[in-house]
Amino acid sequence: MGGVDLADMPIELYCSNLKTRKWYMRIFYYVLDSAVVNAWLIYRRHCWQSNDQPMPLLKFKTSIACSLGYPDTPRRRPGRPLSLESEGNPPQTIPTQPTLTPTDVRHDGYNHFPEFGKDQERCQICQKKTKILCSECLGIALCLVPERNCFLSYHRK
Ligand SMILES: [Zn+2]
Ligand SMILES: [Zn+2]
Repeated sequence: MGGVDLADMPIELYCSNLKTRKWYMRIFYYVLDSAVVNAWLIYRRHCWQSNDQPMPLLKFKTSIACSLGYPDTPRRRPGRPLSLESEGNPPQTIPTQPTLTPTDVRHDGYNHFPEFGKDQERCQICQKKTKILCSECLGIALCLVPERNCFLSYHRK
């Protein structure tokens, strides 16, 4: 019983406060919150073992949301709309300025493919002009020419 109360404490702290009347959705959000808190507890233990300072739970949750391309965060996955536009409203403009990709996404080695952009942009590494963009790190321009491979340098740890 005491263990259950202890486990509920961090879940209650930043619970997904989504107003829903459906009882099964409440269970769903509770399970989701428990999973995040459990992940954070494992992460915290891992940090202590390697003498690192763990990030607080709120920051941990925010970084997960950011990595998943939650709206209002810099990252966006293809196919998931950035704005919740409704009919009649003009679509929200996507910022043209390159936004920083979270480092865990940048180095995850998943789905990062070179794509051709319309215009020349400044390379994130060497600042030279290039039309190559990363398909996953949206808006990030990187050189991919025989002389230099900034695309590889950017994604390698
Ligand atoms: Zn470059
Ligand atoms: Zn990338």
